[in-house]
Amino acid sequence: MDLTLSPSEEELRDEVRSWLEENHPGPEPDELDEVIAFRREWQRKLDEAGFAGISWPEEYGGRGATLIEQAVFAQEMARAEAPSPANILGLAMGGPVVIAHGTEEQKQRYLKPILTAEEIWCQGFSEPESGSDLASLKTRAVKDGNEWVVTGQKVWTTLAQYSKWCMLVARTDQDAPKHKGLTYFLMDMEQDAVQVRPLVQITGEGEFNELFIEEARIPEENVVGGVGNGWMVAITTLMNERAGLAFGAIAQIHNALNQLMELAKETRSNCALAADDSYYRQRLAQLYIEAETMRLNAYRGLTKTMETGTPGPEGSLGKWQWADLNQDITELALDIEGGYASLTRGAENAIAGGRWQYGFLRSRANSIEGGTTDILRNIIAERVLGLPKLR
Ligand SMILES: Cc1cc2nc3c(=O)[nH]c(=O)nc-3n(C[C@H](O)[C@H](O)[C@H](O)COP(=O)(O)OP(=O)(O)OC[C@H]3O[C@@H](n4cnc5c(N)ncnc54)[C@H](O)[C@@H]3O)c2cc1C
Repeated sequence: MDLTLSPSEEELRDEVRSWLEENHPGPEPDELDEVIAFRREWQRKLDEAGFAGISWPEEYGGRGATLIEQAVFAQEMARAEAPSPANILGLAMGGPVVIAHGTEEQKQRYLKPILTAEEIWCQGFSEPESGSDLASLKTRAVKDGNEWVVTGQKVWTTLAQYSKWCMLVARTDQDAPKHKGLTYFLMDMEQDAVQVRPLVQITGEGEFNELFIEEARIPEENVVGGVGNGWMVAITTLMNERAGLAFGAIAQIHNALNQLMELAKETRSNCALAADDSYYRQRLAQLYIEAETMRLNAYRGLTKTMETGTPGPEGSLGKWQWADLNQDITELALDIEGGYASLTRGAENAIAGGRWQYGFLRSRANSIEGGTTDILRNIIAERVLGLPKLR
């Protein structure tokens, strides 16, 4: 693959870079409610500039960007350390799924409010006893006239407390084999039959939630991709999630590595600067090598996607490498900080305002969210390397 940018790709890079220089909204607030309001406003600006759904077709408010252009955009956003948009799940998963499997009415109804962050989306896949083995989920939907009546429990539902719509997978046929009896719904969260209870994470934030669903009503026209096709539609959601992550993640890892080098240059460990200590130098070099490997693998995945037209199982490799690297980088930062590492996020004298303490704690979830590293390894073994299936 040719890694140099074409003149039009360079033009896009320059346009995004200068737009971000002029419009970067500055640092985010601390409290989650304020962060969401801040990111909603930021996403509205991105949409006005045509950047919110850069990969979406122009007829649905996007910019029809090629895969390389999407990668350029994601890299520039991460390079500028721009905040995430508020409706991250709607943009990365909900919209692409509606575009791929939705009816024209669904596209007209749902896509624009996703772009503007007017309606936030969440992903109701995981259940207390169904995470990795998603197809074993038990939430049931039963037909009643022109509506479906849904009962069950979901868990780890990110941003559910702010969401208008939930991408919900439920069992509609109890007798069909487990992958075949599922249907993908868009469930209105604003009904009494859906109760949302925030769960507090190790960072102290309540980013995700439990959902208790007791006879919630979903109209027939909110089925996406047809009754019984929920597994296939859910897989599109997950592939988009992993593929969308790659290039922003690379730039984010490079930013974190640069900050880590700065930390090593200004922090003393056993009298010498960490940056002059061969033990830390080797660990830093190893992380740099792994980040480069991740970058080149992302280009390999991109080439494959350009050949086939849809994101493939290679996206799993980038997600796995990103999780490992993020955990290793934040762990090394705390090792370098030494005794200061135990100071908490809010402590005034914590180095860099507690950025590494928070990052270390938040990165624990990286190898679980969006598919655990064990599951990603299975996918790569079976579907990329062609090794025999476990079962
Ligand atoms: C921060 C965060 C945000 C999340 N947001 C959402 C969300 O918005 N919506 C949503 O639906 N879910 C969300 N999740 C849930 C996430 O998708 C699940 O936690 C994940 O899929 C794992 O499922 P589980 O927790 O049930 O663990 P389990 O599936 O029970 O796994 C337990 C352990 O067993 C291992 N394991 C399981 N099966 C295998 C196998 N076949 N081979 C090898 N090892 C295996 C796993 O790797 C893991 O270590 C979120 C999770 C986190 C941490």
